[in-house]
Amino acid sequence: MQTNISNTNIRLYAKERDDADFLSSYRDKFLFPQHQGKDVIYLCGNSLGLQPKNAIEYFVQELNDWAEYGVEGHFKSKRPWFSYHHFFTKSLATLVGAKETEVVAMNTLTVNLHLLMLSFYRPTKQRYKIIMEAGAFPSDMYAVETQVKMHGLNPEDAIIEIAPAKGEHCITQEAIEEAIKKHKNKVALVLFGGVNYYTGQYFDIKQIVELAHRVGAYAGFDLAHAVGNKVLHLHDWKVDFACWCTYKYLNSGPGAVGGIFVQEKHTKDENIFRLGGWWGHDEKTRFKMKKGFKPTKNASSWQMSNAQILNMAAHRASLDIFDEVGMNKLAEKSLHLTAYAEFLLKQITHLKFEIITPSNPIERGCQLSLLFKSKGKEVFEALQKNGVVADWREPNVIRIAPVPLYNSFEDVYTFCEIMKHVK
Ligand SMILES: *Cc1c(COP(=O)(O)O)cnc(C)c1O
Repeated sequence: MQTNISNTNIRLYAKERDDADFLSSYRDKFLFPQHQGKDVIYLCGNSLGLQPKNAIEYFVQELNDWAEYGVEGHFKSKRPWFSYHHFFTKSLATLVGAKETEVVAMNTLTVNLHLLMLSFYRPTKQRYKIIMEAGAFPSDMYAVETQVKMHGLNPEDAIIEIAPAKGEHCITQEAIEEAIKKHKNKVALVLFGGVNYYTGQYFDIKQIVELAHRVGAYAGFDLAHAVGNKVLHLHDWKVDFACWCTYKYLNSGPGAVGGIFVQEKHTKDENIFRLGGWWGHDEKTRFKMKKGFKPTKNASSWQMSNAQILNMAAHRASLDIFDEVGMNKLAEKSLHLTAYAEFLLKQITHLKFEIITPSNPIERGCQLSLLFKSKGKEVFEALQKNGVVADWREPNVIRIAPVPLYNSFEDVYTFCEIMKHVK
């Protein structure tokens, strides 16, 4: 940490940081579940972000417009439903470092991953392998497995998983490089998470893209745990495609609409296959209701259906906050907040756990994953009993994610005090 924390009273440090925190007022923009009459210590924003207080207003607006206008709400409502997906592109582009033509809010994450793989995983006899991280989120594993099977290929042969070295928890850049080089003539797609959900490891996206492109493969990313957590530059990094959900760090509510990114040059390329639907069709001729799918020349051509207004209202509310704050400020606070958590956790010596998340801040986001050798469940239950919301992953990991938007240094301090007192 930048401050010489060992010489200061650590509790005081928390208070000082909170007092000086340029984001402290944002905590008040969220609704916290209650425990014994007080806000819980919510360290689970990596799983389901808290509800922004402004969400209800956006939601009610759509219900009211529906009541007032009926079908005419498509054009007459405050945010006309016909154009509703457009109200996200600017914010999303800023959030992931993209051009506005490269992003769209649509569907949900796994569905989007499938749709994008239909475009960017077109195996040939020669090039058919997918390289991915071992221990990816199960939904991603199932998506990849079934895509491979859909093409009549054998997952055992077609899927190359890169695992951490024996006794390690994270995947080295060298291992990724080696795997891509080894399969260079056969790899069609390199598909990685941005931040691994289990270990919290953040991958070097730019580097992975370069490696993939060097061997003639596409590079795609599932950014579920990276969006709203890390500063991203998807366009400049030449990422081919990416998708994400918005109910984790983006606080858009359970089952909230997902998002996609497609590199500009692909959005313009009509030879890139995409499944058609009327909302992906050229907007000018959409209502001519004619035969012949003509995709718009941007990422919104991957849409099929008209926007899920009620679902998307909360996403719009949440993005207002991200527009206002910006990722750079969030990332700056996050660096200190997670480092503080790591520092305090390392003082706890009576419990047998190790932090499996990389200690280099460049290789992680908010999250820290604690792997317990024993008593993990007891610790988790003690946390719950004391009003800490964390997350348990089988077989023995507690994940915590101090989120810069609404968590305080005091939250982190209190959480660690509770850990300390577990017998
Ligand atoms: C949370 C998460 C998902 C969830 O997928 P849904 O389709 O939104 O249910 C998928 N992949 C990763 C990496 C995740 O972290």
